[in-house]
Amino acid sequence: MTSTNERFTFQAKRELQGLVPYEAGLSVEALRREIGGDGPIVKLGSNEGPWGPLPAAVEAIRDQVAGLNRYPDGAFFDLKDDLAVITGAAREQIVLGNGADSILINLSLALLAPGDEVIFGWPSFITYPLSVRKVGAVPVAVPLDADYRYDLDAMLARVSDRTRCVYVCNPNNPTGTYVDRDRLRAFVDALPEHVLCVVDEAYHEYVTAPGYPDGIAELIAEGRPSVMVLRTMSKIYGLAGLRVGWGVGPAEVVRAIDTVRGPFEMNALANAAARASLTERALLAERVASNESGRVALAAALREVGLTPIDGVGNFLCVPLTDGVTGRAVAERMQREGVIVRPLDGFGMPDGFRITVGTPAENEIAVDAMRSVLPELLRNAN
Ligand SMILES: *Cc1c(COP(=O)(O)O)cnc(C)c1O
Repeated sequence: MTSTNERFTFQAKRELQGLVPYEAGLSVEALRREIGGDGPIVKLGSNEGPWGPLPAAVEAIRDQVAGLNRYPDGAFFDLKDDLAVITGAAREQIVLGNGADSILINLSLALLAPGDEVIFGWPSFITYPLSVRKVGAVPVAVPLDADYRYDLDAMLARVSDRTRCVYVCNPNNPTGTYVDRDRLRAFVDALPEHVLCVVDEAYHEYVTAPGYPDGIAELIAEGRPSVMVLRTMSKIYGLAGLRVGWGVGPAEVVRAIDTVRGPFEMNALANAAARASLTERALLAERVASNESGRVALAAALREVGLTPIDGVGNFLCVPLTDGVTGRAVAERMQREGVIVRPLDGFGMPDGFRITVGTPAENEIAVDAMRSVLPELLRNAN
């Protein structure tokens, strides 16, 4: 990241060496520019819900539009209040962000000095190592166990005086596996006092698996003082385009994040849509059921095509590949069929890809495409 001309020499700070701008999942517009035509494009690359925002959110956004000449309430008092009521936490424990991603970055800014260490499982969410490295802290990536689960014992063994924070992605993106209640409790209880445990529950609402814990209702409500739980409205609530993330954690940590964040971390539309979304419990339950049946059917169809998806509990499936086929090769070939899936090199799994559960019709298009491209991919790899 160096540019030189006669009047200006730019060198990004040392911590940014080797980092590149975030590579988001391919958008429908970008793929259309690439492949042209007017056939269907199915986007199953970014774990968004296949539904739109909830009806109450759409209405709330409309109601806000005429007032957009005003800044939002920078403290987001009402949304914090709503979340406090729902979670049973104090207002001071609620943190908001322009997406949960933004909370992770702000947490790094608030908590980490150069040389501090952050532990997380790997393969896992790409933002963890990136947000840590941006501030000159040290990411400690601990391999998942043989069943693609977070290896909490191995993570504990890496805790040192320099550890400030551990992330547990539950369920884990991209593998879809989860840590159960007993193991998570034991892990948190074994952490030393100087370590914050961040449980990233971006897919929480989807999970119906037995033994899957609610970090807020259990760990935090039971009085564990060093836990922060993150949630997002980007997935089941269908608000990825608006950017709403929230969490519950120690009041001191929330205050530190509020100190480093931008003055208007969220916008007025996001605020209104988030508040309205929280009132739509029944529709949310329908989405959970539809995702569940969709995921089971998609997994079965992928197996029938000859793939072996990991048994995941979110709104996505992770497919490890064999025979030298890379996730990138699959994603690039599928794109030509109009189907977007996510290659996982950035997530630490170059020989795998991730596919989001779409509508039944979208899933069918994706599986048909996979069936037709897989033989060619295998031939080219060998
Ligand atoms: C999608 C996701 C997030 C956050 O998404 P935002 O859109 O930034 O709210 C956080 N963690 C994980 C593991 C995710 O998959």
